[in-house]
Amino acid sequence: KGDSADFDEEVNSICPFCGVGCQVSLKVKDGKIKYVEGINGPANEGRLCVKGRFGFDYIHHPHRLTKPLIRRDDAPAKGLNVDPGNWQTHFREASWDEALDFAAKGLKDIGGTGVAGFGSAKCTNEEAYLFQKLIRQGFGHNNVDHCTRLCHASSVAALMENVGSGAVTATFNEIENADVAIAIGCNPIENHPVAATYFKQFAKRGGKLIVMDPRGVGLRRFASHMLQFRPGTDVSMLNAIMHVIVEEELYDQQYIEAYTENWEAEKEHLADFSPEAMAPVCGIDAEVLRDVARTFAGAKAAMIFWGMGVSQHIHGTDNARCLISLALMTGQVGRPGAGLHPLRGQNNVQGASDAGLIPMFLPDYQSVMNDEVRAAFTEVWGSGDFSNQKGLTVTEIMDAVHAGKIRGMYILGENPAMSDPDVEHARDALAKLDHLVVQDIFITETANYADVILPASAFAEKTGTVTNTNRQVQMGRPAVPPPGEAREDWWIEVELAKRLGLGWDYTGPADVFAEMKQNMRSLNNITWERLENENAVTYPSLSPEDPGQPIVFADGFPRPDGRARFTPASIIAPDDVPDADFPMILTTGRQLEHWHTGSMTRRASVLDAVEPEANCSLHPSTLRKLGVAPGEHVRLTTKRGSIEIMAREDRAVAPDMVFLPFAYVEAAANILTNPAVDPYGKIPEFKFSAVRVEAAVEQ
Ligand code: SF4
Repeated sequence: KGDSADFDEEVNSICPFCGVGCQVSLKVKDGKIKYVEGINGPANEGRLCVKGRFGFDYIHHPHRLTKPLIRRDDAPAKGLNVDPGNWQTHFREASWDEALDFAAKGLKDIGGTGVAGFGSAKCTNEEAYLFQKLIRQGFGHNNVDHCTRLCHASSVAALMENVGSGAVTATFNEIENADVAIAIGCNPIENHPVAATYFKQFAKRGGKLIVMDPRGVGLRRFASHMLQFRPGTDVSMLNAIMHVIVEEELYDQQYIEAYTENWEAEKEHLADFSPEAMAPVCGIDAEVLRDVARTFAGAKAAMIFWGMGVSQHIHGTDNARCLISLALMTGQVGRPGAGLHPLRGQNNVQGASDAGLIPMFLPDYQSVMNDEVRAAFTEVWGSGDFSNQKGLTVTEIMDAVHAGKIRGMYILGENPAMSDPDVEHARDALAKLDHLVVQDIFITETANYADVILPASAFAEKTGTVTNTNRQVQMGRPAVPPPGEAREDWWIEVELAKRLGLGWDYTGPADVFAEMKQNMRSLNNITWERLENENAVTYPSLSPEDPGQPIVFADGFPRPDGRARFTPASIIAPDDVPDADFPMILTTGRQLEHWHTGSMTRRASVLDAVEPEANCSLHPSTLRKLGVAPGEHVRLTTKRGSIEIMAREDRAVAPDMVFLPFAYVEAAANILTNPAVDPYGKIPEFKFSAVRVEAAVEQ
């Protein structure tokens, strides 16, 4: 931190790392970002975490792509074999015209359902909108998806089904008005650190924080109740809690009658889930389950927060259904301090989903199967109809590549060669493609397989809006130009679309935003000019002066008859259960210092210095049994593959579990993970794989 003499210019923008969406002031000196400070955004009120404050210098990393690249004719066979500092063995530089012509021709030659696209939750709303439009308009189908499939797709499926909207019903800041809160399957101290500060303050002023997680996450230090339940048993635990609420008639009959449907079926279903019957399943004492039920039902205002510990299971949608039912039966939606809040991961996963970067929905979650909806879009786009069938999801697209049905892909800012489950399957698929266009800021693991790489811009180099976990649409602004010939993503998309014959003539993101508004009611009363002036507006905004509604559904839901629905959930076992060969449980996640596949944070000098080496966490008793000292290496093996990695001692991890971050290419967690998916959200079961842990053999 310094004073105004330390910088030439300061530019307000949004932190690019997580869904909290902290507003930042970027201090620029001699054309480079010198340091970052938090400013008074609605989500962060001046606060920043270590990533927001110190994670920015990847922007100036020497590995940044500065020119379009085309794969050399004499390049080695496609594989994970490119040195990002010495790529000349695989690629040659090209002009923008040559690279874009080549990219477009390859996709066009394959055409139709032979082409699929992965867009990005790191790009702006306008860029996400353009991406889905390019696939739908350009290729006539809906095979377009992004990383929401890997994080909260099951939460969105449950919310859409039962509440009628996939977004949060209340901002996380509303915890200030709550007296009880549940945080389940989330680790905000590491993954949503600024949101976590509000949780800590809530606990400090006497709020009851009920933390539920198979791992003893950091919030346990602030918890009134810590339920470290057995992995994969969420439904049994949550149904037991709801059973008590029914048994002791602690539910809100008036609310249920006024605003819900299917209550009798839910009540009947819960009869089989007494705490005494469920305690041996979930590993939590019946009395604790009863106490939690009474505490939650007795709250004046209560919120439920959840993360990927809930969603990344083959029963992720059922987990979220239970949370929704718990909130509905106690009337804890639509009031100050009450609500449902899936903590969104990437900085713009909410916005990219809202903008239609998903295979079942056009912008604003309007079904691709609805003829009137498609007609409304094609009228604005001035083009013909496209498929009325849901497209393929992230993992389905990779399967279709293996089956020879998809031969060309356009991947913008995503890194499936690191992020997909059973990642060798995804890498093999990428290698099989006849034509792969990758648009990114670095030669990511996915770009290793590219036929053409289009150099794009980082957050601090572009203009555009992003939407955080709170439904706050915020304006991002450029502080420095992209390096060399790198360009803003929207510009690259437009130039590619022109070469696909789509006739796009946008002159900037403001044009795109204006088009989005024509078919997105969520953006009513939110204009580009407002965002330029106010920096953030929460949707829904009820008038041109309304800063937006932090709480929704005070008086009914966007469902038939305005009623939310109870959908009973039964116990489904994880797909890959431990056995004699693979006796332990592997769970994956993030660490405070690193972001997702590490392409940015491992090139951020401070973050990389703090957390430089791939590591996993094991209970001290497990390490003792293995004869491994902390800092030594273990071998982790699942039915998909094997890695060696440094082991850390962590009492928060249960003795039969191993926790593995997924940011490290040298010990890629997803070599091990299970691709089995939830049937509704199609989200893979990243949070549960059977694993064997052994001491690594000394090299
Ligand atoms: Fe950035 Fe998230 Fe940290 Fe805020 S909490 S500074 S948005 S990483």
